Amino acid sequence: MQKRFDAVCKISDRHTSPAEPQGAKVLDYFAEDVFDIAKMAEHLPKNTYKKLMATINGMQPLDPDIADEVATAMKEWAVSRGATHYTHWFQPLTGGTAEKHDSFLDFSNGKAIFEFSGKTLAVGEPDASSFPSGGLRSTFEARGYTAWDPTSPAFIKRHDNGGTLCIPTIFCSYTGEVLDKKTPLLRSTQILKKAVVRLMKCFGQPEEPVKITLGVEQEYFLIDKKFYLQRPDLLQTGRTLYGAPPAKHQQLEDHYFGSIPSRILAFMTDVEKALWSLGIPAKTRHNEVAPAQFELAPIFEDLNLAVDHNMLIMEVLRQTADRYGLVCLLHEKPFAGVNGSGKHNNWGIAYGKRNLLDPGSNPAENAVFLTVLTAVIHALDSHSDILRTATSGLGNDHRLGANEAPPAIISMFVGEQLEGVINQIVSGTAASKSKASSLRIGIDALPPLNRDATDRNRTSPFAFTGNKFEFRAPGSSQSCAEANMILNTIVAEAMDAISDQMEKFSAKTFNADLQALLKKEISAHQRVIFNGDGYKPEWIKEATKRGLPNLPSTPEAIKPLLDKENQKLFEKYGVLTKAELESRYEVFREDYERRLEIEARIALEIAKNMIRPVVIKEYLTMQDAKGCAAIDSVKKEMGDELDELTVAIDSLQQALAEGHGIIPAMLFLRHKVDALEAITDDNVWPLPKYREMLFIC
Ligand code: ADP
Ligand code: MG
Repeated sequence: MQKRFDAVCKISDRHTSPAEPQGAKVLDYFAEDVFDIAKMAEHLPKNTYKKLMATINGMQPLDPDIADEVATAMKEWAVSRGATHYTHWFQPLTGGTAEKHDSFLDFSNGKAIFEFSGKTLAVGEPDASSFPSGGLRSTFEARGYTAWDPTSPAFIKRHDNGGTLCIPTIFCSYTGEVLDKKTPLLRSTQILKKAVVRLMKCFGQPEEPVKITLGVEQEYFLIDKKFYLQRPDLLQTGRTLYGAPPAKHQQLEDHYFGSIPSRILAFMTDVEKALWSLGIPAKTRHNEVAPAQFELAPIFEDLNLAVDHNMLIMEVLRQTADRYGLVCLLHEKPFAGVNGSGKHNNWGIAYGKRNLLDPGSNPAENAVFLTVLTAVIHALDSHSDILRTATSGLGNDHRLGANEAPPAIISMFVGEQLEGVINQIVSGTAASKSKASSLRIGIDALPPLNRDATDRNRTSPFAFTGNKFEFRAPGSSQSCAEANMILNTIVAEAMDAISDQMEKFSAKTFNADLQALLKKEISAHQRVIFNGDGYKPEWIKEATKRGLPNLPSTPEAIKPLLDKENQKLFEKYGVLTKAELESRYEVFREDYERRLEIEARIALEIAKNMIRPVVIKEYLTMQDAKGCAAIDSVKKEMGDELDELTVAIDSLQQALAEGHGIIPAMLFLRHKVDALEAITDDNVWPLPKYREMLFIC
């Protein structure tokens, strides 16, 4: 205990001084490190600016005629802010981000200059051989291509000695196959926008710009770095593989929204400063449910930008923590027995100025809302399997289905009021206009939905929360590109299926036809709606009866990528080909298996060379005691546990050699180690304990 405790109690080592007061200064430096639209207007000739805006709004590749001018302006701006390097910043299938820096340095007539050409801005050719491709890219053709995505502005990542101009890019193979998370996300956004315009046309609405919006709530843990460095499991896997539950953890519910400790608040303030400079609209900060757990939420933005920004948020959290002598744990389940961390994916659709997920205030708006809602119900029921795939991964397996996170069964929560409306649509008929109980779509107004009542059920993976959908299954460390790429695609398909039918309506019978259509659609897909307690075991039984897929762990959750119907859907919309989906299956499978093997090896190492030697030493010191019943009994207990520990070590070793049964063997070993933690002298226990890591900071 003393050794572990000493390590963190050198207050002088801690960076606790609060950052300089911010106040309204924030407004001066917000987005100062982003080459955003305002800076483009300032730094580019008028004509070039106009052409670039057309490119951005049309999601087109950069026009080669203006590329050089744009690149030069960008470079000059970046250099004036201290940048010396540039990089194409992309999101490979590892789920993280990648960057290879090149300096602007070049020679002209033997003289050193800074140079950045339009060609270098537009395309890069990084060596792709060390990125996962799931067999798509053959080793003899290792070249990869990166291309600027002008819908996400370039920005400067600053460090103490300067900065790097980062150009958000897509990443594909030499032959054009998708090797990243951004390309299919951009494609899926395009097809959903098209589907929305088509659907709105069925309602006689003039074409308006569509925006798919996203606000990502990020949960994370912070612990003192000195504890972290004493835990090989945290260092190598991001989670604790051992640790007995402390007497007090989250039972008293005193951490959630509690007052934020000063060291943490100073950290958060610094994080926000960095995020605001990058134009990331960090808005909300608070203590989460588990001790040492926190949340950060930005204001929602355009989907593609919000995904990029979430990747940067994770990076800034990690880097800033280090400066405060802390470590930010983004793993989904760093500590057993207390809540894990998720990433709540708030998704919405805006049509011009209107939020299509807002019920609206008159019958016409209500009709659009109910139709969009129906499309999402249709989409979720038809493809919940592949939406679950987007949340798969070894880390999230520990969280989904545990008692603080949504279950692995994807169902939709709509709230009591909206469920009442849905039931009326299903029970009423278009013909029975006189029936007072049935809502006549396009004629009757919906009662205003009480927003507070919509958000009470925290056990649902996919909840309608008043004017958006909140997908809560994604894990805290995951990129949300995958989830939104799938969500966009399946909703586009559902909208198209509805438009196919609506385009045949005649103006005269429009409302009655729509009533009948929504009734048919909802009746067919209603099983995916569940407003009850998703944590109850009865729900699993009920969901099975309803035929909803339950894919509790990654090996099952990634199989939908191989499903023929899913492959047809993604091919039809040009989001991903069959080969690309299969490659993702391979990448996710490999990632899962490798991580599991790493966890098992570390678990063995710690048990064999940290835990067992300490326990043996302690046991041996008791050998000489004679005639004391208490010592005899402690000795016997410890001896028995030591024997069982050895059995558990052997079985994990065997499971690892055979390549199966690893997870139960690790759990068994954990039980043995945790039991020993409870009876071994606290002074010699080699690992920082939960009661220390979660509470001393
Ligand atoms: P809660 O924790 O109650 O769910 P928060 O305020 O922490 O709520 O987070 C809600 C998130 O949803 C924020 O990021 C917010 O900007 C976002 N959001 C709100 N409206 C929309 C919308 N129309 N589309 C997408 N995201 C939205
Ligand atoms: Mg939320």
